[in-house]
Amino acid sequence: MSSELTHKCSTCHEIKPHTADNFSRDHRLPNGLARRCRVCARRVSLAWSLSPAGRASKLRYLRSDRGQEMARLFRAKIKQQQAERKLTNV
Ligand SMILES: [Zn+2]
Repeated sequence: MSSELTHKCSTCHEIKPHTADNFSRDHRLPNGLARRCRVCARRVSLAWSLSPAGRASKLRYLRSDRGQEMARLFRAKIKQQQAERKLTNV
């Protein structure tokens, strides 16, 4: 018996090896793997973010308290990285 486990993608129906390279984790599911392979997940996510509903959803998030807080944290992190880069370049 092969020890190599496989998993079928719910979108492209390809059977791929059960590895972190092919499937992200989803702890809500019994086998702990996402239903879609990473390639399909990326494609579906990109299509959603470019659709009118996806863009509206993103705007709602960015205007929400949590979205504003996350944007602030992201800007602070970038600023800190730039400061560290300046220190190492001198
Ligand atoms: Zn797939």
